[in-house]
Amino acid sequence: MSRIIGHLDMDAFFAAIEERDTPRFQGLPIVVGADPRGGAGRGVVSTANYRARAYGIHSAMPITIAWRLSQAAVRRGDPAAIFLPGNYHRYEDISRRIMALLRAAVPLVQQRSVDEAYFDLSHTGSVQRAVALCRRLKEEIRQQERLTASVGVGPNKLIAKIASDLQKPDGFTVVEEKDAEAFLAPLPIRKVPGVGPKTEAFFHANGVHLVRDARAYSRSDLETLLGKWGLDLYEKLWGRDTSPVHEAYTAKSVGTQETFNVDTLDSRIIGEHLSTLCARVLRRLEAEGFHRFRTVVLTVRFANFRTVSRASTSTPSLHTLQELHQQALRLLLPFFDARENPRREPLRLIGVRVEKLE
Ligand SMILES: [Mg+2]
Repeated sequence: MSRIIGHLDMDAFFAAIEERDTPRFQGLPIVVGADPRGGAGRGVVSTANYRARAYGIHSAMPITIAWRLSQAAVRRGDPAAIFLPGNYHRYEDISRRIMALLRAAVPLVQQRSVDEAYFDLSHTGSVQRAVALCRRLKEEIRQQERLTASVGVGPNKLIAKIASDLQKPDGFTVVEEKDAEAFLAPLPIRKVPGVGPKTEAFFHANGVHLVRDARAYSRSDLETLLGKWGLDLYEKLWGRDTSPVHEAYTAKSVGTQETFNVDTLDSRIIGEHLSTLCARVLRRLEAEGFHRFRTVVLTVRFANFRTVSRASTSTPSLHTLQELHQQALRLLLPFFDARENPRREPLRLIGVRVEKLE
């Protein structure tokens, strides 16, 4: 029996919440992320609303560049972007309420991130009924939260996810199984989930820009060129995806990182950041419905941007803040001496992540 799958993605989630909650922000460009410090800030943009995106500002962009784009807009006579640090506790609360609405509406939900979820609509028995259900759901979210979501409906998770992204914000795109191949054909190769800068660069170097063109490669071509990922990609290019919607949250890891205001090797400053990061990771772990973890990963970025990760896995699994902090600290200490840092280079960023979640 063919499946009907939905994918819901909140629009500019963090920025939309800030705009909703502060009347004087309404209609203005909003950037949630690191402190720009008048152009001398470090770290990146977490979310930009659509007005800020019109300035060229987007997620993961260095905050200094976002600042410069905002200054350029001011020179053109447009409003300056409002830079906000973000209130992640609040975003998580709102996320939980939205996921609860979704779970009340459909039997099988797989939360993918704080503002994204797949859900199985096969029980509705027809695409028309699935569409009606999704319209009601979008309306409930709008009424209860005064926020917009974009929804995609398709024969599998791959198509649903691509569809939800296609008409943002407040989008709704429905792709029937018989149209899936044709739907993907004209899209840029980068729209296929899993295609990052590396795969995209490979295709561009070979004159391939659209999914349609990439289909000229056979399954074994792609395997030879890209290894196991090539086999996955081949299926995706043709719109095929058999992965099920898992009820359990399938996050493989929960983590966070922070860029220091100034590159440093001061163990007191770095230690304080480490404690903050560990506490944040544990909060997020719980917000996502997990209680235990086995692997702790510490990431360190040196001032010259060289980035190193070190991991340790424990048996039995761990769950307290103290255990997390102890493991992370054990991984961090060698970066203060010759073991990992013989030239005593200052650090720019540290990150903490937990994996093997239970
Ligand atoms: Mg989103």
